[in-house]
Parts: sequence; C-alpha cells; structure tokens
Amino acid sequence: MTLQQHLASPSPETRGGRLTIDNVSKRYGAFAAVDGISLEVPAGSLLTLLGPSGCGKSTLLRMIAGFVGADTGTIALGGKHILDVPPNKRDVAMVFQSYALFPHMTILENTMFGLKMRRVPKRQARVEAMQALDLVKLTDLTERYPSQLSGGQQQRAALARALVTHPKVLLLDEPFGALDKDLRDQMQLELRKLQQSVGVTTVCVTHDQREAMIISDYIAVMRHGKVVQFGTPLDIYDAPRSRFVADFVGSSNSVSGRIGKIDSQVAECILDNGDRLQVPASKHLALGQTIELAIRANAIRLAVDGQRTALPQTSETHATLAGIVAFSINLGDMVRYEVRVGEGRYFVVEIERQPGQLMIPNGTPVDLSIAAQSCMVLDA
Ligand code: ATP
Repeated sequence: MTLQQHLASPSPETRGGRLTIDNVSKRYGAFAAVDGISLEVPAGSLLTLLGPSGCGKSTLLRMIAGFVGADTGTIALGGKHILDVPPNKRDVAMVFQSYALFPHMTILENTMFGLKMRRVPKRQARVEAMQALDLVKLTDLTERYPSQLSGGQQQRAALARALVTHPKVLLLDEPFGALDKDLRDQMQLELRKLQQSVGVTTVCVTHDQREAMIISDYIAVMRHGKVVQFGTPLDIYDAPRSRFVADFVGSSNSVSGRIGKIDSQVAECILDNGDRLQVPASKHLALGQTIELAIRANAIRLAVDGQRTALPQTSETHATLAGIVAFSINLGDMVRYEVRVGEGRYFVVEIERQPGQLMIPNGTPVDLSIAAQSCMVLDA
C-alpha cells in the first residue's frame, strides 16, 4: 500500500493499530525502571507518557520499539503480540529527540532510506518519499543535507522519514526538546494536525505537562516506573487523583481538613485553623473523614475593596477566606499572588491581567473566593 492509499483509508484500524500493553516490567538489577504497566491505546489516538526524569517513560517507549526487552508482560499491536518480533519488523517507527538523520544523506535520501531497506523499487520509493515530504511541507528542501536545515525542519524531516513506511505506531521521544519555545509551540500544533490527518497511533514521551495537554488524546502520568493516572487531558487536569498528579499537571494548592457537614450537593471541609471550604458532596465522603484537597491557582477568585475579579465558575456555592497579599509576580497576561490566610497558610492565586491593569501591592487585604467545584478531593 502506498502512503496515498494509506491516507485514503477511512478505517482507524487499518491506518493505526490498537496498542495493548499488559503488565510490562523491566528491571535493571534490583531497580524496576518499568514496573507492571498496563495501558490500552485505541487505534489512531495519541498517548503521552508524562512524568519526571527517571520515571521510566523512555524505557517503556523503547520496549514498544523493540530496543529494550521486557522481563514480564506482553505488548500487542492490532491484537498481535510483538515482543518477539525484531524492531524492524514491528510496523513501528520512532523519532528520536536528536532526530538521528543520516548526515551524509540528503533529506530525500534520508526519507527514502526505510523504503530502500524494505526493497521498494527506487522509482516508487522516490514518489512515496516525496509524498511524505509533502505531508510535512518540505518538498522545497529535498536536496539539502540535515546540517543545512533549521531545528524545526530537521524535525519535520525526521517525521517524514518515520511516516514514509506508514507504520501502525509512531513513537516520539521528547520530540520538541531541542526546539526553542516559539518553534516548540508551532511544532506541537503541526504534529497534532499531522497525526490526526495520518491517523497513526502515536505514543509520545515528554516531561512537559503543557505539551501533554496540547497534543494528547490520552495521558499516562508515570512515577517510579508505574502509571499513577491514565485519562484524557481534561480528566487528568480536572480530576487528579493524587497530590503528585495535581502538582505535576498545573499549579495547585494543597490543603487537608475534616468533613464537618454533608448535604446532597456540597460538604463542608474544616481546615486545621478553623477555616471552612465547600467541596462537592459524593458517596465517598463521610462525616468526620479527613480529606486532601487540591485547588487550582487559576480557579480561585480574588476580591480587593469589593471589586471581584471574574473567573468562570460552574457553581455559585463557594467559601470566602480573608487574607493579605504577601508576594506577587507578573507572568505577562497573568499575575501570580501568594496570599497569606491565617497563620502560616498561603494560597497561590493566578489572576488574568487586563492590559494596563496594575498589580495589587503586597500587604493589601483581599478576599479569596473558592467555589466548591474548584476543590478537587484526592484519593487517600
Ligand atoms: P528522562 O526524562 O530523564 O529521559 P525517563 O522517564 O525517560 O527519564 P528512563 O530513561 O526510562 O527514564 O529511565 C528510567 C530509570 O531506569 C532511570 O532511573 C534510569 O537511570 C534507569 N535506566 C535506564 N536504562 C538503564 C540501563 N541500561 N541500565 C541501568 N539503569 C537504567
């Protein structure tokens, strides 16, 4: 099948494979780099492995590619087990952070390479490579060598080289790590559009939570070789299950308290200094129970002199806490305040700043308004 026929195929199962990872582990001596991971990636979707340095993201990616073997578990692509299949026979293509283009080959030759290895006749390989380079908008630069391309162009060339064999799974290891911020933002959008138009199942490794939010259908947050939460970007952002996920994905405040009252809609959480917050009621909450909460910095409203800064909220049920601005920094379109509430408790609050609007000076008394829906109850 040519790349064009592949792109014309309407079925996600034929364009990208369903990837099933079942109880996969990899140990180095006594250390578990990947520790019993199970994940299901639907055909045609993009999964991001997100986590701090050393959590096992690249090891898992390399296991899917076939560069690292598994001690336990299975990996299947479109229902077929692949752990015993050599890397070049897996229907999987990988783009490395350094792109790994061959420096002595032109961009066209680099792109044709995978087809040459598959013994595709030269004329046909050339046509298919040009189609792949057209996908990534590089048809004007086909005779250049990698050193004659910008970082973004090299990345596009690496993508063309990976996609030309129309793999069932595309693996990306920190694909934007070598790019500056503006180019990274641009390439993230380009990758997402390209991945959706090609429909290739994709697994991407990053430690950048913002990037994961932008490009992913699903995110697996990893820590110490395990997946600690799997879900859509909105699931992960709106309902983190643990303090680790809440802190890793977005800026949030941590508080704990005891349930003092429950009605059908909301429960009251009493903090250790006696302040009270409203939280959404649920069947998991009981009177007297100690709970951990995460509250996004950008979900808290801040009022000074009765002038409330409007932020969208889905519920009017809220708690108001009195505090004093202790510290502030300008983030451009946002201002981040640290507000002292009572003795020794600080809330980080991020407020949109209108052009020309001044920052609230340190020492200013303010009211914080925290909606029940903004209080995310974490698993114990
Ligand atoms: P980073 O974001 O820094 O690349 P990562 O999440 O991708 O980190 P891995 O490269 O998968 O992490 O490594 C996971 C752990 O396994 C690390 O502690 C690493 O030192 C260890 N590790 C990886 N490869 C080997 C190896 N060949 N021998 C011994 N330990 C290894």
